[in-house]
Amino acid sequence: MRTVTINRKRESHQENNLNLLNYSPMITSTELKERIKVKATGLGFVLAGVTTPDPPPHYATFEHWLAQGRHGTMDYLATARSRARRRDPREIMPECKSILVLATPYSPPLPHPTSAQETHVNNAELFAELGVQEGGQVASYAWGADYHDILPARMQELVQFIEEQAECPVRNRWYTDTGPLLERDLAQRAGIGWIGKNTCLIHPKHGSYFLLSEILLDLELEPDPPFVTDHCGTCTRCIEACPTDCILPDRTIDAKRCISYLTIELKDEIPMELRDKIGNWIFGCDICQMVCPWNRFAEEGDPAFGDQNPARDLTEELSISAQEFNRRFKGTPVKRAKRRGYLRNVVVALGNGGDMHTLPVLQTARNDEEPLVREHAQWAIEKITSRGAERAERRVQMKRADA
Ligand code: SF4
Ligand code: SF4
Repeated sequence: MRTVTINRKRESHQENNLNLLNYSPMITSTELKERIKVKATGLGFVLAGVTTPDPPPHYATFEHWLAQGRHGTMDYLATARSRARRRDPREIMPECKSILVLATPYSPPLPHPTSAQETHVNNAELFAELGVQEGGQVASYAWGADYHDILPARMQELVQFIEEQAECPVRNRWYTDTGPLLERDLAQRAGIGWIGKNTCLIHPKHGSYFLLSEILLDLELEPDPPFVTDHCGTCTRCIEACPTDCILPDRTIDAKRCISYLTIELKDEIPMELRDKIGNWIFGCDICQMVCPWNRFAEEGDPAFGDQNPARDLTEELSISAQEFNRRFKGTPVKRAKRRGYLRNVVVALGNGGDMHTLPVLQTARNDEEPLVREHAQWAIEKITSRGAERAERRVQMKRADA
């Protein structure tokens, strides 16, 4: 998932404060790991791997990323405590002996581009060909239930299974994308896939449309071999397709420019120079995954998550009240944007749509209770009217040329 993934969300975890006992000598670490993986698959984790709690290999890259200020307003990433924990998972749980990394698939935004379409670098053309240009775009991981509400119960069940198999309580701590861990680094070291140039964790068969989770365990499990091959090769499709040019050469993203950050994490005004690059994305962005050839064969997502883009007629969205927003998006990731952020994104998408027919609702939005919405509505109105004036001027010039 492209959760800017710079951990766009609050920390979410659970800890069991139980004393570790030695597990049954009747079962080897390798056998136990295989049983855990079979159980994990049954719980919907299509990929599972084990790594050590040793410091992640790309921690220095993360520090450099912070030093460059690429994290924007996500100050929680740069605190001393957060850095210490990302640098060394044992800072989270000193008795940790193994980390179980899990991947759950979510629905790909269909259809996947054909090989010829993948070479498009013009997103407007690409989306027109895919027929996904109407309405607003929501990143596909957010189409349905919030994974923060779905995955914890599965991890709890997995931990229970591990304790049953080990025949002893096992101290543990789990995270669902949101913990102070460099989760893609750990996933690569656990053999799940490689970190692509688009910064997503990619598996050769499953692609990158999945959510990562981790369980820290006070239990020795045999580590899996790391995934060492880089299958990106000479491909640069994601870099070329990114509308804001925020994919960096060291396989990180300048979050300040990424649409996922701008439409979800950023709580204030979207910088002027980036607004027209957002297109019709109103919550997150899937472009750098949509164009990735490794997602061509991505299978259907876990049925617990949605498989339909919830974006509706954007002009209707503008009349949504706070109560209606909370009711409609309760239990989905979109709620995270809150009404003010969601409507800010909607008016930017309408401005980028350039449709004169949307001017009346934008003029109403200029009186919205939220100053943030009002300011962006004004920008959208000016964008549409100036584009309309340019078109009219072009028509006049063409008529003159014909005369
Ligand atoms: Fe961010 Fe660019 Fe990927 Fe969109 S295409 S999610 S803007 S990195
Ligand atoms: Fe790698 Fe190409 Fe996919 Fe980007 S689009 S992540 S370069 S394979």
